[in-house]
Formats: sequence, structure tokens, C-alpha cells
Amino acid sequence: NNLKKYFPIKGTPFKKKAGQVKAVDDVSFHIFKGETLGIVGESGSGKSTLGRTILRLTEPTDGEIIFEGTNLEKLPMSKLFDYRKHMQMIFQDPFASLNPRMRVGQLVGEPLAVQKILTKAERTEKVIDLMGKVGLPKEALTKFPHEFSGGQRQRIGIARALSMNPSFIIADEPVSALDVSVQSQVLNLMMDLQEEFNLTYLFISHDLSVVKHISDRVGVMYLGRIVEIGPKKAIYSNPLHPYTQALLSAIPVANFDSKKEKIQLKGEPPNPSNPPEGCAFHTRCPLAYERCKLERPGLAEQGDGQYVACHLYAGNANESIESSNDEK
Ligand code: SF4
Ligand code: MG
Repeated sequence: NNLKKYFPIKGTPFKKKAGQVKAVDDVSFHIFKGETLGIVGESGSGKSTLGRTILRLTEPTDGEIIFEGTNLEKLPMSKLFDYRKHMQMIFQDPFASLNPRMRVGQLVGEPLAVQKILTKAERTEKVIDLMGKVGLPKEALTKFPHEFSGGQRQRIGIARALSMNPSFIIADEPVSALDVSVQSQVLNLMMDLQEEFNLTYLFISHDLSVVKHISDRVGVMYLGRIVEIGPKKAIYSNPLHPYTQALLSAIPVANFDSKKEKIQLKGEPPNPSNPPEGCAFHTRCPLAYERCKLERPGLAEQGDGQYVACHLYAGNANESIESSNDEK
């Protein structure tokens, strides 16, 4: 709820106050148990920071993070450790931060060893079981990460994340480094595991086709904010926000009769340390009008759980420049 993560920009001797980057700027949404919520947006839109902030891998500037009724934002680090077991993260390259000299068996079993719940024999049994679940042979345990392909490495990363029996997993671009043919295998594995273990996913990606494959609901981020969120079907068949429409129009369609025109956006995304006033999208929006430069639109429901932050739609809540200036 109202989650914010602002990073200060270091000043120079000539300019002491350099301002801040609002990487996540007042984001509110919920995730239902057992579903996959996809988060899409261009690089720099704040998706990864959002994921890391939810797990408090980076401390939020403000806001609430409620997990099964507990506000994680208020928990001391010692208590947070208990909750972390239930929440795991899968990364684009699961081995980027892991010791390349450790064998796969050790790597997968490491979180269990840290928690000291199981004996060594129980741990080994559990690790062998996990390897089977992610479709890797037992022999993989004695090998090193570099002996595996990208897809296999991601399977190992998933096994490691599952070792703590989590209920909630944040996956940040988990298939973006993989060949397209391997991507769907890993996505299907994630979907099978979700069924089997009743997992809830927050799935972060810049790739709309990937998000479409795995998600139940989808949120679209632009410059630190969610500009549209709703059921997958609604977002893909009836996108309301001009930014969502532009993103979707850029996906090649296999349907040659498609009369859909590609919407070309003007310019690059603005610098996040100096986002435009009003609707942050107005500098690139083909439909922008006077009001968009002055008032920032809030998310408003358009029916069936689809919310959009755009002045073109009735019933949207405004945030005037005055009130956003008050916060500063
Ligand atoms: Fe475009 Fe205005 Fe809607 Fe923003 S509020 S998306 S600028 S029409
Ligand atoms: Mg990222």
C-alpha cells in the first residue's frame, strides 16, 4: 500500500542537493493467493526495485507491505528472517551472486543449511527430491554451475528457491536470458510447480508475450507507477491506457488480417530523476491534452477489476500538482 522507494542522487561540490530518483512512487496493489501477477514495463520503470522492496531486500522509503495480514514494513530484521522463508526470489541469472566453486548440491541445500532445521541426511534427501521436481538428474548434484546450460541453471535456481517451502515467489526476468525455445519450458515448469505447491507469483518482465503466457493478472509500470492493472484477458484484449496500447501494438502478431496499427511513441522515456509533472506519460502520449500536464491521474476502476490511471476515462481520481508538491 502506497509503497515508495526513493534513491537520493549524490550531489557534487557545486550542486549539493541533487534530488532523488523515485524508482517506486506510491504503488498500491494486491496479489491473491495462488495467482500470478505479472508486472511489465520498460527498463528503468521500477519493476525490479518494486520486487526487491516488497521483500525488503532494499528498505522502502514509505508504505506498507502486508503479507498474510502482517505488515512486513514494521517488522524488525530478526522477525523478518522468519518471514523470508515463505518468500523467495528467482533472478535472471541465478548464479551471478553465488559461489562458482560450490557444487550444485551445496548451492541448492545452502538455504536449508542456514536455517538448521534438517539433519545433513534429511537435507540431502530433500535436495535430491527437489532436483527431480525441477527435471534434473541426481547426478547434477556433484557438478558445478558452469557445467549447465542457461535453462538448466534456472532450474537449479528454482530448486534453490523451493528448498524453503515458500508460498510466495518473486521472479525477476527469470527467462529473459534464455533462448525462446527454452523460455516456454521454464515457464511451464514454473506453472506446474505453482499447481503442485500452491505458489503465488509476482512475475516481473519487460516481455509482454512471456507475461501473457504465465499471468492471471497484469500490472503495467511506467516511471515508478502502475498505470494500468487488471485481469490478463482485459489487459491484452482491451488495453485502456495509451501506454499499454502502445506496448501491445509493438508485439508482432501472427494474424495477418490484423488491422491494428503500430503506435509509435515519441522519444525516449524521461529521466526518472526528473519525471514530467501531471501525467508522467504526457511527453510521449499521442492523446495528451492540456489537463495531462497539470494533473496526475490516479488509478480508477473501469469494471471487472481493470484499473487505469488516465484522464481519458471517467471516474478517475485526480492528484493535482499542488497536492503532489505538498508531499515533497
Ligand atoms: Fe495520455 Fe493524458 Fe491519459 Fe496521461 S492522462 S495517458 S497524457 S491521455
Ligand atoms: Mg530490472
